[in-house]
Amino acid sequence: MISLKPDFYIKFNCPECGSNDTKVNDIVFQGIHILADCLCEGCGLEFYSDLPTGQALYTPVSFGKNNNKLYDKYNVGWFSNPLFESYISKNDDPINIDKKVFKTTKKVIILNCMDYLYGHVLLKLFNAEYYLDRYKDYGLVIIIPKNFGWLLPDGISEAWLIDQNLKECKNWNSNIENFFKKETERFSEIYLSLAFSHPDPSGISIHKFAKHKEFNMDNYLDDINITFITREDRTWETDGSLEDNKLISKFFGKFNIRIDARKSKIKKQNKLIEKLAMHLRKTLPDIKFNVAGLGKSIKFSSCVNDLRETAVDDDIEKTWCSIYSKSQIVIGIHGSNMIIPSALCGGIIEILPENRYGNIVQDIFTRYERRKSLFFYRFVDEHSNPKRIAAVALSMIKDYKSFDLNMSSKNLKHSIYNDTGFWKNEREKNDLELKRILNDR
Ligand SMILES: [Zn+2]
Repeated sequence: MISLKPDFYIKFNCPECGSNDTKVNDIVFQGIHILADCLCEGCGLEFYSDLPTGQALYTPVSFGKNNNKLYDKYNVGWFSNPLFESYISKNDDPINIDKKVFKTTKKVIILNCMDYLYGHVLLKLFNAEYYLDRYKDYGLVIIIPKNFGWLLPDGISEAWLIDQNLKECKNWNSNIENFFKKETERFSEIYLSLAFSHPDPSGISIHKFAKHKEFNMDNYLDDINITFITREDRTWETDGSLEDNKLISKFFGKFNIRIDARKSKIKKQNKLIEKLAMHLRKTLPDIKFNVAGLGKSIKFSSCVNDLRETAVDDDIEKTWCSIYSKSQIVIGIHGSNMIIPSALCGGIIEILPENRYGNIVQDIFTRYERRKSLFFYRFVDEHSNPKRIAAVALSMIKDYKSFDLNMSSKNLKHSIYNDTGFWKNEREKNDLELKRILNDR
């Protein structure tokens, strides 16, 4: 953790002359970034520098207060440019901050989840459990955009819910900065969470956030639900890469028919999803095939249970979570829209476009390890057609028993096969199971 009070974290080098003879005058809340307001005793540069939290743990950014210079030594423009721009165009727009105090405490850890990307907010929030479990003498204060309030876990001391949409979270708003300064005066001891951008899923109980239990694997072969997560800004297309389609969209945009092009892509995606449902039902006629996600510009036929919405609120998010937690398999295109579904469902099939290879697994919240993880988390390329994806999904259902019997850790314990009374029952059970699996094939 990073100390903020009574002592500041002070390990900053001057970005201009490299001197470590620097002084921290103050800690400032920009929004996504929490910054040290520094002075270089060597060359006199006044600068702001990132405290090592979130993405800044790996790629901290500095900029001069008066020389109009950004020091981005890790070359992370997506992270550094919005910060610098927010400094140049700092605003004092009125802002509504809903301060919820659940318990009063003088010693706190602050977890800053502010971000302009949905997945980043979510993943930073999942760091909360680590502190709740280990630092019971400290209160946990979560700073987060208001729309994420429904995900707050029990046990935190405070939540500062900032009423900004994600785009606005890029901004540096002096009212939020002042709120942070004033509120932190109440505490005698403050640490800042590291807020890992990709916290280790093995230490996180998703139901504490999503308020729904993970899919119960005892029911894996009963009442099969397969859920497709759609998004209209990134569509599943079997012809042409996403990159090609972006270019086409840009070209069409010039002729002012971009909306028609977008609608045509969504229409094609809907047809692919309907075909997928059809292929699955050829083998498993009784499955329930759900579609969830944001945007419903084009209707589906009655072959799918359409749960899409044009806007989300807490109730819709919770309804979707209840569907994910009942779904043996969730299918969707790569993106932060897969984080919560993958954490709650049995297994996933992700359509991974080539231009996202570098982001593989970042949006998947794995529940299992080793071989089980390979069985339940499948990636297919962006050109995969409905028949091929259906084949993968069907295998994940039909071949599960065989996989579980032969390869799951619980069936590979020597003790259950030892020559004891227990052995006989277990062996017979397994033999029967195996016969049933072979007959099913
Ligand atoms: Zn200097």
